[in-house]
Amino acid sequence: MIEKLFVAGVDVFRINMSHTSHALLAELHRHIRNVESKLNRPIGILADLQGPKIRIGTFKDKEVQIKAGDKFAFDTDATPGDSKRVHLPHPEIFASVKVGDFLLLNDGRLRVEIAGVSPDRIETVIIFGGTLSNRKGVNLPNTLLPIAALTEKDRADLEAAASIGVDWIALSFVQRPEDVSEARELIAGRAGVMAKIEKPSALLCLDDILKVSDGIMVARGDLGVELPLETVPARQKQLTRAARRAGKPVVVATQMLESMIVEPVPTRAEVSDVATAVYEGADAIMLSAESAAGAWPEKAVATMDKIALSAEGDSFYRGIMNAQRNDPQPTTADAISTAARSISETLDVAAIVSYTESGSTAMRVARERPNVPIITLTPIPATARRLALAWGQHCVLTPNANDLEHMIETACQFASSEGFAEEGQRIIITVGVPLGSPGSTNMLRIAQVGKKKTPAV
Ligand code: PGA
Ligand code: MN
Repeated sequence: MIEKLFVAGVDVFRINMSHTSHALLAELHRHIRNVESKLNRPIGILADLQGPKIRIGTFKDKEVQIKAGDKFAFDTDATPGDSKRVHLPHPEIFASVKVGDFLLLNDGRLRVEIAGVSPDRIETVIIFGGTLSNRKGVNLPNTLLPIAALTEKDRADLEAAASIGVDWIALSFVQRPEDVSEARELIAGRAGVMAKIEKPSALLCLDDILKVSDGIMVARGDLGVELPLETVPARQKQLTRAARRAGKPVVVATQMLESMIVEPVPTRAEVSDVATAVYEGADAIMLSAESAAGAWPEKAVATMDKIALSAEGDSFYRGIMNAQRNDPQPTTADAISTAARSISETLDVAAIVSYTESGSTAMRVARERPNVPIITLTPIPATARRLALAWGQHCVLTPNANDLEHMIETACQFASSEGFAEEGQRIIITVGVPLGSPGSTNMLRIAQVGKKKTPAV
């Protein structure tokens, strides 16, 4: 199935650590790397940490009915609850909430307002009632919690994922830039760090979070519980644009093709939602239950792929990308990237080919959202895999050639052998000289693809 999903259009596989043991992580990692070597294409793996998901305790009868207007308490008493109270096994919450704050239960289906707080008891009034059962999740949208972004489980999962060699690690419920910095230190360059934006507090310090993250996710599932649902589309635009300005990949996630968990065809509204994320310039669009537990995983991926290709191929897409383009930063890499994009609009070129070691040049070229494919050549497998998440990248692993003319020739050969350029077509090549010094892209060359030859490897 992993191979089928890749062929259907997957660039990056997310492994949700909320549901994955270390043994299963290792097994999935092995399967994905096997597909990678069989098909000879770099594939990204993203391990998604559960984060500090808050849950209530249990009930004597497994569940209770609570109704609007009734009183209900959360306390520090571990005995099973009833229709009047339940255990909340997170002592730090009692010191952080105040009268008037809301608690949302069971993915926001139930809402209670806090009427009184003491060190061991939170008194509430039910606003929206319903069934509340054992260990349901709790969201506190208006409260900045003094809890670490990484639980003990997250630390163990992080280490397992980083040491096995995943390409990205995502952090759930990030509240502040320090949450990301802490994980970044533990990951120590072994994977890219993605901040999942799903808390209103993260939106308040978004720019600082972006500075310390390699990418972000618009995690609409929890964001839609923590914020009024009707404000999520605007936040999606805000987050996508902020990430694009920073030149860091942004993933739009959750319920994108929700009906395909059971149906083989999506709703029109879902198709429109996926296309909207693409028209906004998202780097990646994500499936959750559709592919993880649904009846039509392969169809869901193929459907998403078709919608993305159709949107990106439409003339409206070009117009939107041109209207939203961000100014380059005053760096050599941005000067070269802007020039490459601009030349690709002046001349009839088939592709931009970028040599990159760390991947940073390739990200800056992607930030330009050029109208032609970006072929990224790198000798480093981890770079190629990490770039699988970024917009418009077709990465090829190849050793660095030892002289410039050989590099130009190799670029032409790959443009042709990978199916992006035909004999006689021009390509743009960006490269750093002297060769092999990372972060030094400083040269742009226009070359013409010659007769087909087997690429030098
Ligand atoms: P989750 O994150 O699927 O891990 O909850 C995504 C989201 O909240 O949208
Ligand atoms: Mn979430």
